[in-house]
Amino acid sequence: MPLMRIPFTAPLPHPTIVPASASTVQGAVAALHAFLTAPAKRGGKTVILSGAGISVASGLADYRGINGTYTLNKTYRPIYFHEFSANHEARKRYWARSFLGWTTLNRSRPNIAHEAVANLGEMGLISTVITQNVDSFHPKAHPNLKTLELHGYLRDCVCLSCRTEYNREKFQLDLAKLNPTWAAFLAEMLDSGALTTENPDERRRRGLKTNPDGDVDVPGIEYSTFRYPPCPKCLTRPPEGTKVEMDSDGAWSPNSTAGVLKPAVIMFGESISDPVKLAVESAIDEASRMLVLGSSLATYSAWRLAKRAKQESMPIAIVNSGGVRGEENFVDDVPPYDTGTRGVRLLNRFRRSKAGLANCASSGSHESMRGAHLTESDAYSIEQWCHEHVSDGLLTTMPINHFYANMAGVHHEPSSDKVTQHLA
Ligand SMILES: [Zn+2]
Repeated sequence: MPLMRIPFTAPLPHPTIVPASASTVQGAVAALHAFLTAPAKRGGKTVILSGAGISVASGLADYRGINGTYTLNKTYRPIYFHEFSANHEARKRYWARSFLGWTTLNRSRPNIAHEAVANLGEMGLISTVITQNVDSFHPKAHPNLKTLELHGYLRDCVCLSCRTEYNREKFQLDLAKLNPTWAAFLAEMLDSGALTTENPDERRRRGLKTNPDGDVDVPGIEYSTFRYPPCPKCLTRPPEGTKVEMDSDGAWSPNSTAGVLKPAVIMFGESISDPVKLAVESAIDEASRMLVLGSSLATYSAWRLAKRAKQESMPIAIVNSGGVRGEENFVDDVPPYDTGTRGVRLLNRFRRSKAGLANCASSGSHESMRGAHLTESDAYSIEQWCHEHVSDGLLTTMPINHFYANMAGVHHEPSSDKVTQHLA
């Protein structure tokens, strides 16, 4: 079977900021505020579509960011569903790497960006969160705001034969019992701090590579020695026409024809179930607008949803540090002087000086009036901006400001009076 292509592993083109006023922190906050609160049909609530970018501040790598898995490791290739379901050796390798990566993932927590989403939910602005992430941070951070997990979740395993789900944490203990040498190696890695540091550079320096699936790369490890248990239910009552056997220690035996456990995530080459597809489509159809957070929309399943929203003439806001697949399709129809009600495109970086923005805005061409191109050299982070403006007494913790600042991993940011008044 030919390998499926992982879409868009090369950097996407740099985005245009829309509206142009959103090139400053205050402008960005004002634009997002206008976007989220504009009068609208269908209840006026926003559906959020989030991706790996929102979990970076929790210590997980994204895929296509500056330190993303595909950016740093050009040969990285995730496991494909057909390999996992058909190949015992591929499963041993997957579970061995997952066994090592689980502790780090299980210890990581939602960050302030997830909390900010929770805040927006409490303010009644959000209808549903659709996430591509499998880290369970959204449901943890806002259990009362509905989350639809497009690509499943790592917190459970699922049996490929009977679809019974089992807790992944408990499964980790089963793996440790079956693989004492690996368990000792894991303990050693944890002791060395290679798995506990949240600094990706430090992790790499210690020879460890992790990716967003909670998978770890450890050079020189022999995966074929790894063992994993069968589905307990299928072991007791194998589905008709199958056999499920285990060895004397309780590991799944290759004589078996069923009872294979898989993480409850959608692997590459695997289809999203119809109930999930229908649920996310209804979530979009019932919302008034869509806010994309930390996703390049590179996977077709996510891009399709943003396209659906656009086809329904919903305003779309995109906050992502890099380019987005086909992004000219999403905001190119926003009028030049719109305040953000018809669409917003933001980075989590801003122009260094107001003069720079003024120059851009006054250069006269239509193009520069509607959008300002940011480059690495003239952009700087919200964190720097806040640091320089703390003495102005402008800092506030109003939820929407809190939300926007969170996208850059900082707690506070300046606010315009207008936004503060609206939210007070
Ligand atoms: Zn089963």
